[in-house]
Amino acid sequence: MSTCSSSSARPLKIGIIGFGNFAQFLSKTMIKQGHSLRATSRSDHSQLCKQLGIPFYRDMSAFLESDNEVVLICTSILSLSQVVKPMPFNSLKRPTLFVDVLSVKEFPRDLLLQVLPENMDLLCTHPMFGPESGKHGWQDLSFMYDRVRIRDEALCYSFIHIFSSEGCRMLEMSCEEHDKLAARTQFLTHTIGRILSEMDVEPTPLDTKGFQKLFEVKESTVKDSFDLFSGLFIHNRFARQQMQSLEEALEKTKRKLQERMESST
Ligand code: NAP
Repeated sequence: MSTCSSSSARPLKIGIIGFGNFAQFLSKTMIKQGHSLRATSRSDHSQLCKQLGIPFYRDMSAFLESDNEVVLICTSILSLSQVVKPMPFNSLKRPTLFVDVLSVKEFPRDLLLQVLPENMDLLCTHPMFGPESGKHGWQDLSFMYDRVRIRDEALCYSFIHIFSSEGCRMLEMSCEEHDKLAARTQFLTHTIGRILSEMDVEPTPLDTKGFQKLFEVKESTVKDSFDLFSGLFIHNRFARQQMQSLEEALEKTKRKLQERMESST
């Protein structure tokens, strides 16, 4: 596995697009590490940014002119296209490292390669944790990345170091490989959580350890927005296969029970 190689990591000027739940969570650690942040978003997060000491831009051109070394895209999967397609890239002052953290990877890679000017580097990432699982630190939590188009190795190294220095398990893999594996793991977990939520499962005095774990799955997945869950399905081509496998498995299980019931009567 190759990593971005360079001498040493340094504090970065990072501009964040989409200052929602996940961006706010990431920015706390970035601020702690001494990076200089600024943000822009669809909604007005200026009050929160003021408390955090981060300049907040309502205007995308002014944000891009604010001399970022890294532009970190933290918008929802579903809104990526409408956020990046109209971006005035000519406002950028210098070649910049674009990084995305979307929970699907082929989709942002393809779209960003299409819209970014050729002199912009691109790193596609997926921190495999969030505000809940990462609330006590990032030690041993996985960080996936694909160096899609990297020329400034030192800058890429400094960005990746944000996660490696917190003790994350660093996983370099292709966006395609990520989407295959994430459909079988993260998407399946979220789907089961959403199904349990539709069933209104609630704790009872008789709960087994197994049920408590299931309940935790429900509780943690519904904390994420429905936009996020929809994005996992709509923009990961491997998720459809998983949904089909899940339906087939339910049918197969029901058939087996039916057969057993018939043979025991
Ligand atoms: P999310 O619902 O996926 O995204 C919320 C963000 O998207 C907010 O910044 C919101 O902006 C922006 N947004 C939504 N619709 C928009 C639109 N029509 N136009 C412009 N911006 C729009 O929730 P999230 O948990 O914060 O996730 C953000 C990104 O991080 C997603 O791509 C997600 O896949 C990824 N991610 C999340 C987690 C996690 O644990 N939550 C972990 C890893 C990766 P405003 O706030 O300004 O309205």
